[in-house]
Amino acid sequence: MKNISILGSTGSIGTNTLNVVEANKKDLKVKYLTAGSNGKLLVEQALKFHPNAIAIADDKQYSLVKGELKSSGIEVLAGREGVLEISRRNDVDMVLNSIVGAPGLEPTYLAIQAGNNIALSNKESLVMAGDIIMSMLKEKNLTILPVDSEHSAIFQCLVGEEHSSIKRLILTGSGGPFRKYPLEKFSKIKPENALKHPTWNMGRKITIDSATMMNKGLEVIEAKWLFDIPLEKVDIIIHPQSIIHSMVEFIDGSMKAQLGLPDMKLPIQYAIFYPERRNVAWENTDFTKISELNFEAPDYKRFPCIRLAYESLERGGTAPGILNVVNEQAVYAFLDNKIKFTDIPGLVEKALSDITIIDNPNIQDILNIEQIGIEFVNREISGVNRMHEISIKNGNMTLSDEEIQNEIIEARKSL
Ligand code: NDP
Repeated sequence: MKNISILGSTGSIGTNTLNVVEANKKDLKVKYLTAGSNGKLLVEQALKFHPNAIAIADDKQYSLVKGELKSSGIEVLAGREGVLEISRRNDVDMVLNSIVGAPGLEPTYLAIQAGNNIALSNKESLVMAGDIIMSMLKEKNLTILPVDSEHSAIFQCLVGEEHSSIKRLILTGSGGPFRKYPLEKFSKIKPENALKHPTWNMGRKITIDSATMMNKGLEVIEAKWLFDIPLEKVDIIIHPQSIIHSMVEFIDGSMKAQLGLPDMKLPIQYAIFYPERRNVAWENTDFTKISELNFEAPDYKRFPCIRLAYESLERGGTAPGILNVVNEQAVYAFLDNKIKFTDIPGLVEKALSDITIIDNPNIQDILNIEQIGIEFVNREISGVNRMHEISIKNGNMTLSDEEIQNEIIEARKSL
């Protein structure tokens, strides 16, 4: 029997993980669950899987969750501290972290610090603090199993291979919904268009990251740390069908690929039971239903986020963390209709040049980036709105060029 802790159990990966638990219920016991703000679903999950304890990050949900579980014997914790407390509990075989974004970093860090093996879905942990996390795992002799399908694919291709035999890693990406969309219309893309992913059904943040292709950039950084590979040996290829989940080329020219349907239960189950493979409880790949597998080079002009991710990693220090946090805040602002789709890379590029980068950060320096990124994006958004007001004013009142220029200078000063 394996005991697991699932951080972020109410999300897309979290619920898929519970499906995997259900399919393997004789061998898996869920000891801990955490959620962000979906108290109702967390209660349902707790009543179904009977964990020892749960935590809800949103304090406002505590009384509802506590009330619903009062006669269950399940310990209920709340707030950020509650989630961190669960992350530290080490009476489990594995902690699966599927919290979305920068709020997932500290739980990963604390879980490892407490001696837990990790199944990592929260790629942002490695993007922000890959160096620190990988060193800590090595020092404590702990394992990290990738949940991300591309990294699971590479991990599977590397079983039994020497690290020195790797020529390059090839991350596949579907190209998202805007692979062929006219570039001149990108600024008009609405959240509802960007949330329609052609092949994967995922949480909102990663779906937007897939549409901007920042997701592929984050995955390049994740791969660099997970597989201890220099950046120049990590390539991206667009593969719209999402059947090949990634590939490895070896020095003798041989290539290995891992294939399967786009279903996250497969990499989740692989991570939980590695090195054992389990009988599948879901749909098999049927090649008679797959008419073709296509490949094309990524379009860096259309998707500048990929370039920004490579550049941030080359810059090092806190740069990838800044890229990550500003990206996620920009994604949330886009989802709230506060900025345009094309503002997402624009904000990230500006942040990388405006925010001071720390060269050899410690974990606290990296954790501080979240607040710095939030403040940066808020400031920039109020600036964008101010610019918008100016252009409206210009339209109505016919200001002179000089007056417009002065308004812009004043607006910039107030940022
Ligand atoms: P979702 O948005 O669907 O779920 C996120 C989870 O994190 C939810 O349980 C949410 O709780 C919880 N959460 C959100 N904010 C906080 C917070 N501040 N503190 C604690 N918990 C919080 O995301 P996904 O499942 O899609 O993605 C999760 C991670 O996995 C991401 O890093 C993503 O990049 C990665 N990933 C996802 C894939 C997918 O197929 N979805 C594929 C590969 C990687 P609640 O809902 O209760 O608010």
